[in-house]
Amino acid sequence: MSVIYLDNNATTRIAPEVLQAMLPWLGERYANPSSVHHFGQQARHAVETAREQVAAAMGVRERQIVFTGSGTEANNLAIRGVLAARPGKRHLITTAVEHDSVLRPAQQLEREGCRVTYLRVDALGHLDPADLEDSLNDQTALVSIMHANNETGVIFPVEKIAALTAAKGIPLHVDAVQTTGKLRDASGHSPLNLADVPVDLLTASAHKSHGPKGVGILYLRRGTRLRPQVLGGHQERDLRAGTENVAGMVGAGLALELAMRHLDADFARVAALRDRLEDGICSRISIARVNGDRAARIPNTTNIGFEALQAEAILMLLSNHGVCASSGSACSSGSLEPSHVLTAMGIDRRVVHGAIRFSLSRFTTEAEIDRVLDLMPGIIERLQALQR
Ligand code: PLP
Repeated sequence: MSVIYLDNNATTRIAPEVLQAMLPWLGERYANPSSVHHFGQQARHAVETAREQVAAAMGVRERQIVFTGSGTEANNLAIRGVLAARPGKRHLITTAVEHDSVLRPAQQLEREGCRVTYLRVDALGHLDPADLEDSLNDQTALVSIMHANNETGVIFPVEKIAALTAAKGIPLHVDAVQTTGKLRDASGHSPLNLADVPVDLLTASAHKSHGPKGVGILYLRRGTRLRPQVLGGHQERDLRAGTENVAGMVGAGLALELAMRHLDADFARVAALRDRLEDGICSRISIARVNGDRAARIPNTTNIGFEALQAEAILMLLSNHGVCASSGSACSSGSLEPSHVLTAMGIDRRVVHGAIRFSLSRFTTEAEIDRVLDLMPGIIERLQALQR
């Protein structure tokens, strides 16, 4: 049975060119980049070339890029690192719909005596910048918000938020794991124009755009104070110790370069396929409802609720036909906890429990979408019949 993979916000297929570029660094070119011999220096060169590729995609300087072991680690480093570097400030502002790699460090900081404000969102998944403005105070150490939501794809207005935080001199961290390599600014950089938008720290992750898992990226604006959270050797300019994942970094650099080269064409096509899937499901299945603002989303994501059904049952039947989708973030799938994102949007519990996320990539084909459109009505009818 062939796989129809519509779970690209969880992870993506590694691009064939990326895999090829990584292989030598997993095989015969195994030296440590910190070694002074020529063999080690080849690995150092590979790491620095990868950093240049990432910096070029983002439109920033190489010195501003720190590699970590995941997007999760980059988020932890940003949040805990800034709070630790500003011990006099004990207030963090984030949102109720962040990924767990932001929410859990925030909860830990609360246990350690910090105050955390979780900004609310409306029924379409939007936050109100005025709420942020009201929450900023002279105790605020950091604002951490996501660029686009991993479950609904809804995009937050980072430019407006950055204007508010910059006006008060408060550092801003943006979790751009779901937008880097998928969105680009008019400047041609991804995910936004960091030369103009005053973001201080920004997280990305290679495996969301056809790179390898286990490579995170943290962009740091010049002058951002950050206390390292992993201590040891002097790698990553003392900001993240540990022998470098050379193959992973090489893969991350090339994956982002390729994503940028193809972004406009790929994502116009991906958005059209996503809309075809969404419109097709909504016109064939009367109980289907799209969650999140359809007008302000990343192009590859749709979250559709099937009222009174269980997402797990839908996913299982889809999986029996080779179709991979998700009920929300990958970390919470497998648990029956309702999505904190849809719950925060005030969506009815009966819709939340039956919500499916389909996320596409540049490898998704029209034939795959049409196959899912053929399958879905039968799956939903079967589950509804079981309830009667
Ligand atoms: N932030 C967001 C918005 C995500 O969607 C994810 C992964 O799903 C992460 C952070 C964590 O990234 P990683 O899987 O590289 O740890």
